[in-house]
Amino acid sequence: MTGKLRWRRVLVKLSGEALMGSQDFGIDPETVGRVAKEIAEAVSLGAQVGVVVGGGNIFRGVAIAAKGGNRVTGDHMGMLATVMNSLTLADALRRLGVPARVLSAVPVPSICETFTQRGAERYMEDGDVIVFAGGTGNPFFTTDSGAALRAAEMRCDAFLKGTSVDGVYSDDPKKVPDAERYDTLTPGEVLGRDLKVMDATAIALARDNAIPVIVFSIRTPGALVDVMNGSGRYTVIAD
Ligand code: UDP
Repeated sequence: MTGKLRWRRVLVKLSGEALMGSQDFGIDPETVGRVAKEIAEAVSLGAQVGVVVGGGNIFRGVAIAAKGGNRVTGDHMGMLATVMNSLTLADALRRLGVPARVLSAVPVPSICETFTQRGAERYMEDGDVIVFAGGTGNPFFTTDSGAALRAAEMRCDAFLKGTSVDGVYSDDPKKVPDAERYDTLTPGEVLGRDLKVMDATAIALARDNAIPVIVFSIRTPGALVDVMNGSGRYTVIAD
């Protein structure tokens, strides 16, 4: 089965909102189960999968900073939100029979293991899905940057960014119906045109480590497996 995979080791980045379903906030267990199933199918093809989930469905540091609160404290809270999301996703994966581990950049040893590159490498080689929690472990970063960092550390073949649409557009396609959709872009084009895919740090980190960024819709059933097979609809960001 592994022969037909376009990428063997991948980092899948999902925003916290991907776990929200139709709710305005928090975690919808049914949606988490659906996302876990998509990941489980990719694993069954023989892929080695790392996952980073954001925390925006629960908390973002800028929300507290915007109201005069302490940004660093807010970011700490945001990182803890990613731990919560990671725990529920790993749990859903295990219920599907997929061995999954949460490794957190923020040590919470009574709840999950602390991230080390060597530990993660070992688990990935064993075929476990690693859910990387806590972003980079530092304030003033995003989980996109955390995901690009882990993709580089784990020498992933691709960074798969699951969004609510099927690629990168010149404008928000939900607001601008005639927005142009791109099949391919270079990181320089993304940065130069200020396309809202992910933050500049994440794009630059992926570019500097020659990791292609694949933007696809996590809302489309089967899309992740299609991406792994090199079919389906997505935008490739690479030089
Ligand atoms: N965060 C942080 N450092 C990191 C990653 C995340 O401080 O390395 C905090 C930050 O407050 C951020 C929140 O965690 O707003 C949730 O992450 P993010 O906004 O990236 O989540 P997403 O938009 O992907 O759901």
